[in-house]
Amino acid sequence: MAEKITVDGRCHCGSIEVTAQVDPGMVIACHCTDCQMIGGGPYRAVAISDAEDLSITGTPSEYIKVAESGNKRIQAFCGDCGTQLYACDENKQQFNIRTGFLNQSAVLVPKKHIFASSALHWITDIEDDPCFEKGPGSALIQLKQ
Ligand SMILES: [Zn+2]
Ligand SMILES: [Zn+2]
Repeated sequence: MAEKITVDGRCHCGSIEVTAQVDPGMVIACHCTDCQMIGGGPYRAVAISDAEDLSITGTPSEYIKVAESGNKRIQAFCGDCGTQLYACDENKQQFNIRTGFLNQSAVLVPKKHIFASSALHWITDIEDDPCFEKGPGSALIQLKQ
């Protein structure tokens, strides 16, 4: 396992701050249509942190998203400014931190793409990375024509 780095960031209005340890080699971009809709962008990228490696100042708002599989995921965001902070399981064991608000976002390069089957066609720089049809355990797909 690669060395973890410390990352930190605050939401746009500054009322919530997050500090965490993440493996910079384990950044995932999710191209599912929920991420496109909720994220307001073409995809969402996350860095993964265990609960014991994470600290949060402030109180995030939570939206529970029910996946196709029936899994419930907490989607946390700032209730004041709307900045998206992380997703986690209901027991809050593992956190997928949105890289967009982290100060280290430039070095958190996605190495894996999930739900690549719904990636927008104009995203062409992911073809050489592992692209999974759906979730992380699903089939690899080839995007190159
Ligand atoms: Zn905020
Ligand atoms: Zn997604």
